[in-house]
Amino acid sequence: MTAARRLQGVGVSPGVGFAPAMVVHWGFPDVADRTVIEGEIEGEVARLRAAVGEAVEGLEQLRDRVLQRAGVEESRIFEAQILMVQDPDFLAGVEALIRKNQLSAETAYEFKALELRNLWGSSGSAQLRERLTDLTAIQRRVVLKLMGASEREPWSGGLDEQVIVVAHELSPGLTVQLDREHVIGLVSEEGTRTSHAAILAHSLGIPAVMGVAGALHAVEDGQMVLLDGRTGVVIIDPSRAELEEAKTRLHRRHRLDLQLEAGVSAPTVTPDGRRLSLRGNVDLPEEIEPAVRHGAEGVGLLRTEFLLTGRAVVPTENEQADYFRRVAQAFPSQPVVIRTFDLGGDKFPAAFDAPHEANPFLGWRSIRVCLDHPEIFRPQLRAVLRAAVGRDLRIMLPLITRVDEVLEVRALLAEEGAALAAAGVPAAAKVPLGVMIETPAAVVLADRLAAVSDFFSIGTNDLTQYTLVVDRGNARLADRFTTEHPAILRQLRSVRAAAQDGGIPVSICGEMASDPLSAVLLIGLGFVELSVAPPSLPLLKLVVRSVPASVAEEAASRALEVDTALEVRDVLRAAVRPHLDLAVIEAGGALPGSKGPATFR
Ligand code: PEP
Ligand code: MG
Repeated sequence: MTAARRLQGVGVSPGVGFAPAMVVHWGFPDVADRTVIEGEIEGEVARLRAAVGEAVEGLEQLRDRVLQRAGVEESRIFEAQILMVQDPDFLAGVEALIRKNQLSAETAYEFKALELRNLWGSSGSAQLRERLTDLTAIQRRVVLKLMGASEREPWSGGLDEQVIVVAHELSPGLTVQLDREHVIGLVSEEGTRTSHAAILAHSLGIPAVMGVAGALHAVEDGQMVLLDGRTGVVIIDPSRAELEEAKTRLHRRHRLDLQLEAGVSAPTVTPDGRRLSLRGNVDLPEEIEPAVRHGAEGVGLLRTEFLLTGRAVVPTENEQADYFRRVAQAFPSQPVVIRTFDLGGDKFPAAFDAPHEANPFLGWRSIRVCLDHPEIFRPQLRAVLRAAVGRDLRIMLPLITRVDEVLEVRALLAEEGAALAAAGVPAAAKVPLGVMIETPAAVVLADRLAAVSDFFSIGTNDLTQYTLVVDRGNARLADRFTTEHPAILRQLRSVRAAAQDGGIPVSICGEMASDPLSAVLLIGLGFVELSVAPPSLPLLKLVVRSVPASVAEEAASRALEVDTALEVRDVLRAAVRPHLDLAVIEAGGALPGSKGPATFR
């Protein structure tokens, strides 16, 4: 083999998979340019309409299948495609080509789709890129029908051996058709943690690594592939030793998971008596149950974007209120922190008229979009106020860079609260309003923001991205995305101090808190509330119960003295080693006291 054996991507759905590769060159069928005679024109138009009708039916079936296998919210991804495939303007354009240019239905369809693809592709808008994936899916579906070819893919059933699908890009439709018995892993060149296909793979429990540059070139059909959906590592033709390691890792992780599960209901107190609150980050409804099962003390970050992405329409106030109540019911008497729509970057609803921007992550996104679109934002605020009756719901604002943004939201909340009261609609009189500290501006302004906020939560993902100027979704920069960078540590220290001086609580809800060593650092910096993805909770509980807060504090002060993230990790390792087997926290290996070091990673 010529290409690199080891490829690095972004782990988007955890789990280890080992199987022969099924390399999918998922392209379009070859459509020959074909013209028809005048007498055939109406027949071609009729064929087009029939194919579109069948495509709609197929998509509806797919939507129902997703509904069963994943959930109602994921199934809405197909709403946009169902609307798009029936778009009257597009179809009128295709029909015009058939009639005027006497093109066959498939030639005309291809031609029109290409026109649209060129238009969208050159716009550079993140939202249109997402729609291009939808366009690809429907184009393929309709053209295959017109050509009388099967739409059924080999991986959607009928495979008799297990495979790992390797593709350039995975559409949500394709992902959900995967036969889970046989497709035991996914590798794609495109895609990030937030892409629809990644969300679906996660919900379906298929280990997946995306953003693997050059995967199609490097992997040959039938070659053995080993992937780790947590670390994003893909190994082609692994050696016997690498396989043994992977097996050991799987086995240990499984054993560790079982043992950690048993400890989830124990109190989260350090050996020297500091009580911590560990909450769950919930992105999708499917994560509510694991959060409860893993002993989350409430939800520290309820992301609400999934209510919008891929959907053709914005969810109603009632729908949102129902969802918020549902989450709150899972955590009676514990807080649920609802983050308002964090739109932008690659997250825009299909029907939303997002502008083209050269730098979407520095652009019109998040709180900025919400404040500019009260018709979207106000119903969300009302939904929280209504769902908060008798429940501990809180509102949190993303990407704050200015004090007046918080004041504006306060004014909107007061107006909506008054309107609900005047209309006699049951709603909470007041809901705590917090701010995400995830931009350097917010860190610098933390004392002023504390004066207008009820709480802070530090989003270390964006804070790291914006401080270190490292795109958080870029696999090539993954090793530069270091949350232990001294610049981040100093910001954490100063935000904690500002919150303390302002008399408000501060938590951490970025991924940093789910890394056990970093968690020790955070505890040492004085943070007592951490919110992490539910699967990370059991190990974090073990860390809290094993490492004294005094040790963490000492390590944190030493970490603040060194110059590099690597040195910070060394300081943390040295501090933790006497209290906890590092193999456990670094690799999910053996539990303390059990035999055999973990050799992998
Ligand atoms: C963060 O930025 O750290 C965060 C928690 O928010 P998100 O990952 O949704 O941007
Ligand atoms: Mg963020």
